[in-house]
Amino acid sequence: MPVEASLIQILACPACHAPLEDRTDVPADSAADPALLCTSGDCGLAYPVRDGIPVLLVDEALPRGVDGAPSPA
Ligand SMILES: [Zn+2]
Repeated sequence: MPVEASLIQILACPACHAPLEDRTDVPADSAADPALLCTSGDCGLAYPVRDGIPVLLVDEALPRGVDGAPSPA
């Protein structure tokens, strides 16, 4: 389930308050999980989206991998 674009526009990274990038349109069979990525190069946390609901908690966020995808935990 995609996250509303209008919702993403008003969301910000709770760690650094940078805008978030929509990464929720991954194919169902993709290895990547839907997430909202912080656009800050210094922060770059990936927030998981569960059942269409962004989990904007720093404790739940994953550090962004070198290829732009969340790293395996
Ligand atoms: Zn951030």
